[in-house]
Amino acid sequence: SSSKGGSKDGVNVQVVLRCRPRNGIEGRSPEVVSCYESRREVVLHQNVAGKQQSRTFMFDKVFGPGANQTSLYDQAIVPIVAEALQGFNCTIFAYGQTGTGKTYTMEGANCGASEGDLPNDAGVIPRAVKQIFDHLERSQIDSSVRVSFLEVYNEELTDLLDVDDGMQQAARSKLKIMEDKTGVVVQGLEDCIVNDAAEIYQVLERGSAKRVKAETLLNKQSSRSHSIFTITIHIKETTSEGEDVVKIGKLNLVDLAGSECISRSGAKDGRAREAGSINQSLLTLGRVINTLVEHSGHIPYRDSKLTRLLRDSLGGRTKTCIIATISPTAMCHEETLSTLDYAHRAK
Ligand code: ADP
Ligand code: MG
Repeated sequence: SSSKGGSKDGVNVQVVLRCRPRNGIEGRSPEVVSCYESRREVVLHQNVAGKQQSRTFMFDKVFGPGANQTSLYDQAIVPIVAEALQGFNCTIFAYGQTGTGKTYTMEGANCGASEGDLPNDAGVIPRAVKQIFDHLERSQIDSSVRVSFLEVYNEELTDLLDVDDGMQQAARSKLKIMEDKTGVVVQGLEDCIVNDAAEIYQVLERGSAKRVKAETLLNKQSSRSHSIFTITIHIKETTSEGEDVVKIGKLNLVDLAGSECISRSGAKDGRAREAGSINQSLLTLGRVINTLVEHSGHIPYRDSKLTRLLRDSLGGRTKTCIIATISPTAMCHEETLSTLDYAHRAK
């Protein structure tokens, strides 16, 4: 295989596990997760009829409760963003139970539009934006950067950057996905040109605010929606023969619906399916990734909106990173096990 990085058999899927620190709500719930960062292992403990049982899972990288935003970004994300800057399509997903740190990991906390240094709590998105603009400015490349911000809820798309779109309309407006040989286009989707990092932060804030507003007005449950922040980089280069070529790199940063939206719907432990609780996009994403990793034939991209949208950024020469997030406490044991299983199957 000619591929590099954390790839196996030419499949460029990297799975990173992050366990957040315990929080106030978890009270005295005992800790059941041990993270061994250097061995890249996570052990989940369970007390069954007075006997300690444990299961060990291995990942490409493991970040325990003490790992901060900077180390996660520097160790796991920098090389992926570098690929996007070389003209490849890349996708970074945050996958996990609601409350385990997907949004903290992707967006971060306390990061309003800031100048200069990023706050310590800044997540993957602001750090990627900074890496991209630092690189383009440093190397004086002739380039342009565009961003879009979409939400998938109940297999319907909402443009989080379309300000004129009133909320009533947002409920009805159905953006259409168009596919051709060259890629995927969402008809009518706002695609903003941004000139510097500060502008992207403003765009991100605007979109997040709209997401929150739509949630209350339309009675959405944020835990059931996916958000996709896409940065497209056009880089003009001149070859040694003096010919102009444009490289296009795309970075998709995806904050997925809570993983409990799958496990609840599964007939795992004999429970009946809860009507309406199946998250088609989350379920299909798992199947698409498994098929890619196992090289097992037909890839069911078309079965959900999320996978149709990301089709040109999953598989082939693209890079995919899944950041699976878990809680350390016994309270979340069942969901933690299902997240570890899902994430491990993607390897
Ligand atoms: P999710 O998006 O998966 O539902 P959040 O990102 O909203 O979860 O995280 C839930 C809470 O836990 C938030 O208050 C968040 O700031 C906090 N949190 C999550 N991960 C971490 C972490 N690694 N370090 C510190 N606080 C965290
Ligand atoms: Mg969230």
